[in-house]
Formats: sequence, structure tokens, C-alpha cells
Amino acid sequence: MTEHGKTPVTVLGLGAMGTALVEALLAAGHPVTAWNRTASRAEVVAAKGASVASTIDEALAANEIVIACLLDYDSVHEVLDPAAAGLRGRLFVNLTNGTPGQAREMSAWADGLGAEYLDGGIMAVPPMIGSPAAFIFYSGSGTVFGRARTALDTFGGTNYLGADPGLAPLHDIALLSGMYGHFIGVIQAFALVGSAGVKAKDFAPLLRGWMDAMSGFTERAAEQLDDGDYVTDVVSNLAMQAAAFPNLAKAAEEQGVSAELLTPLQPLMDRRVAAGHGDEDLIGVIELLKK
Ligand code: NDP
Repeated sequence: MTEHGKTPVTVLGLGAMGTALVEALLAAGHPVTAWNRTASRAEVVAAKGASVASTIDEALAANEIVIACLLDYDSVHEVLDPAAAGLRGRLFVNLTNGTPGQAREMSAWADGLGAEYLDGGIMAVPPMIGSPAAFIFYSGSGTVFGRARTALDTFGGTNYLGADPGLAPLHDIALLSGMYGHFIGVIQAFALVGSAGVKAKDFAPLLRGWMDAMSGFTERAAEQLDDGDYVTDVVSNLAMQAAAFPNLAKAAEEQGVSAELLTPLQPLMDRRVAAGHGDEDLIGVIELLKK
């Protein structure tokens, strides 16, 4: 701690996200030692008061808390493998996007080097960092989470999910899956109306309103899943939906638009209906995703 009680932190990686993290730490008064493979990218944070380490060894030696925010887990290993001894005794927070398996592997690797590991999944874009709109999932060492908490709180909201380091990336990827599903629908809808010359800006309020109206699917599906009951009070049964769904692809075809973003759902619906579950809600297809 400094005399002002602000924990000093090392940040590895000064891309768009790493730079935003450093800026949030500096704004809150945390002394920061920053390192980046391409040294020139450190000029922005140096001008704002960060110390710049010229080597990775120097960066690791500077502080007990080490935060990595690099492109992917391969780049984390590429950076840290040659300097691995410097991780001994460090509280290592990895905010690089990855999978649950990668996080568990990284945790075991850090553990073997005498470091404690916390994984994080950032649910924000760089301009949101430091505002209440940003939040980050964490999982892994509760000790690291507790000791680094003041620094981590400068990034936005925190949500610690438990000791399994894979939980943060699992929740991160689940939210991203929901997001891309939403984006798929939006892209397809704009492509369809665009094929008839409808201006996207004119259609956007209709699409937004419809998506908002349909957003209750999430809570309804959650209730059905937790109750294990996909048939009570169903108002749009799967057999009906499976019969109407081909029209999405047919309409696209007529308009000269590809339906490839949407078509994977059709065989799942058809298989579930064929197996005798036509009276269920759509969420029942989740059973076919379990491998
Ligand atoms: P950028 O592309 O802006 O920066 C990538 C960073 O990784 C740079 O510091 C780059 O160094 C470094 N890097 C890449 N490859 C290597 C390597 N082989 N060895 C050493 N360093 C390497 O990405 P962001 O900062 O935006 O993203 C960082 C992480 O944050 C990613 O995992 C991303 O998924 C995640 N994230 C990003 C969000 C965003 O909206 N930007 C949102 C949520 C999460 P150099 O400057 O030398 O190239």
C-alpha cells in the first residue's frame, strides 16, 4: 500500500482494454507499473502518471498484484513463460478473454509457480471501464479477489463467482453467446427489410420495440428450466413454431437474402417435435444441446 492506502498494481498489456484499465487505476490514485510488448503504446499511460517497465521481469518485480490483459491466452503464455520465476508470490489477475478450460489450465500453471490466480471476464468495452455500466466476472482465488478488491473496483462492478477459475469465463462466454444470438437476429432483420429498400433507420425503432417486447423470454425460460416443466401454460407451442419457422428461410430466399444465420434452429425444432414434444415451449430444444 502507498501512504494513501492505494495498492500499487502492475498491468501487462496496453491495448485498448489494458490502457482503459490503467487509466481507471490511475484516476483512483493507484500507482501503476505498466508493460507492453510494443513499448511505444505505453506513452499514453506514462503521460498520465504510470511507471513504464522496460522488461517483463521488471514489471513482475514491481508489485504484488499483477493484472494481465492481452489478446488471448497464448499471448499470456508467450509473455510470461520466459519470466515465469517472477510470478512467485504474486497475486495474478488474468483479464484476458478465454475459455473455462484455459482459465483452469492457467490457474494450475500459476499455482505450480507459487502464484495465486484469479480469472476475470470483462463485460464492457474500453470507454465503459471506470463507470458503473462496466462489470467484471471473477473466479478463482478468493484471497486474490479480497486483496486486489480496491483496485478491481476501479474498473466497474464486480461479481465474484467462486473458487473454480473456469466460472468467470463460462459466464462471460454465456453472455456473449446471448449477445451474438441477438446480433444474428438484428442482422437478419435488417437484411430482409433492406432487400425491399426499407431504410434501416426507419425500421430500427420497430425492431428495437419488438426485441424489447420479446425479452421476457429469458425469465420465462428460466422458470421453465428450473421447474423442469416445458408444457404448462404454453401459448406458442413448438409444433406451431416449427411449422412457421421455414417461412423465415423461404421469405429470405424470395428476397435474395441468405438465411444461413438462422437455419440451424430448424432441425433442432423438427427433431424435438418428432420426438413427441410438440406441445412444449421453444426452450425444450435445450435438451438437444446437451452432449
Ligand atoms: P488490443 O488488440 O487492443 O490489444 C491486444 C494486446 O495484446 C496488446 O497489448 C498487444 O501488444 C498484446 N499482444 C497480442 N499478442 C501478443 C503477444 N503474442 N505477445 C505479447 N503481447 C501481445 O485488444 P484489447 O486491449 O481490446 O483486448 C485485450 C483483451 O481484453 C482481449 O482478451 C479481449 O478479448 C478482452 N476484451 C476486450 C474488449 C474490447 O471491447 N476491447 C471487451 C471485453 C474484453 P502489442 O501492442 O505489442 O501488439
